[in-house]
Amino acid sequence: MAESAAPAGGARSDPLDVVIAGAGPCGLATAVAVKEHGLRFQILDRGCVTHSLTRYPYYMTFFSTAERLEIGDVPFTIPEAKPTRREALAYYRRVALHHGIAVRQHEAVVGIEREPGTGGAGADGFRLRTEGRGGAAAIWTRAVVVATGGLGEPNRLDIPEVRDEYDRRVVHYYTEPYAYFDQDVVVVGGGNSAVEAALDLHRNGVRVRMVHFGTKLDRGVKPWVRPDIDNRIATGEILMHWRSRVAGLGRGTAAIKDHETGAHIEAPCDTVLAMTGWRPNRALLTALGADFDAETGVPLHDPATMETTVPGAYVAGVLAAGFDANKIFIENGRRHGALIAADIARRASYNGLISERMSPAATARIPSASGKVSRPT
Ligand SMILES: Cc1cc2nc3c(=O)[nH]c(=O)nc-3n(C[C@H](O)[C@H](O)[C@H](O)COP(=O)(O)OP(=O)(O)OC[C@H]3O[C@@H](n4cnc5c(N)ncnc54)[C@H](O)[C@@H]3O)c2cc1C
Repeated sequence: MAESAAPAGGARSDPLDVVIAGAGPCGLATAVAVKEHGLRFQILDRGCVTHSLTRYPYYMTFFSTAERLEIGDVPFTIPEAKPTRREALAYYRRVALHHGIAVRQHEAVVGIEREPGTGGAGADGFRLRTEGRGGAAAIWTRAVVVATGGLGEPNRLDIPEVRDEYDRRVVHYYTEPYAYFDQDVVVVGGGNSAVEAALDLHRNGVRVRMVHFGTKLDRGVKPWVRPDIDNRIATGEILMHWRSRVAGLGRGTAAIKDHETGAHIEAPCDTVLAMTGWRPNRALLTALGADFDAETGVPLHDPATMETTVPGAYVAGVLAAGFDANKIFIENGRRHGALIAADIARRASYNGLISERMSPAATARIPSASGKVSRPT
């Protein structure tokens, strides 16, 4: 990893300008933007850089073309239109190196508290509590960006009688097919992840049946994958149970229940692959007192700045989409960082907190003050 480009700081008496929790593509894009504004910052990830991508299927190809995944003005040049997971991992690592973003890896933000009066110019600041390989630590900062992504908790299947052995029988991450050869796998879900996993398993010697609560596959299934899955289901190579759920697990079997007719079948099943999506972890923002839309789970925020209802606390990336992770992805979430950085820099410069260390180029990046000058900090 590159030498830290962020100046020292982070003590109570010398708070940073901003700390970013999460080094996914959107957190990284935010780090680049705050650095370009001359802000003193730190970025942490509970895993490695773009940890979430390491958990995607190993051989996946992104649906976006490479240039739509670019951040920090670093060209993403590959021979094909759409990058693989490995190319994306290499690319984002390169961005971090290119911009000298030293991510504090394997260090989770476990709590954020407001610290009255520590933010400069009379504003509140924040104290972040972290836990990593080196133990527990605290960082003080004037602003905080929560960019912890959408993969907080999997949407677990409701199978009460197997609660204790759930994790051994039900898998929520699909990486590759080889561990399942010559076995029976029940794939739950009707979206891209379920369809692609089912096809990959089928092509690698696994007996696959899909279980989906709907009557058709999700509209978002990639159009070029659609004929393949439709034909595999039509020929019975992949068995499909529509309007159904996994209602129980027996010894080497799964009980599949048709929720319209109430009919049950016991199907052979070694593993249930639950491609049922994920929910963001909202604990950091909730504990801070941020407000959420009850129905959508969206943390309430100003779309022009990404600031939440807690002054100085921002949200970036897919976390801003609430329960619907399909609304924000890298293509659009990568733009949040520039909005956030401009707002923090604008506020800090009005308060005389950073002007002395801002380069002319960084100062020029601060948008016009019109309409914003009197904004409270
Ligand atoms: C199979 C698959 C294919 C996809 N294909 C595309 C595509 O083609 N195009 C596209 O635009 N999007 C695609 N997406 C969606 C895209 O990957 C996500 O929208 C994107 O990763 C969101 O970026 P993010 O930075 O908001 O969050 P994430 O990438 O989830 O990053 C969040 C980071 O925060 C870290 N973190 C979490 N909690 C803490 C904590 N408490 N403290 C510190 N760090 C923490 C995590 O370790 C993680 O590294 C795909 C998703 C999947 C699953």
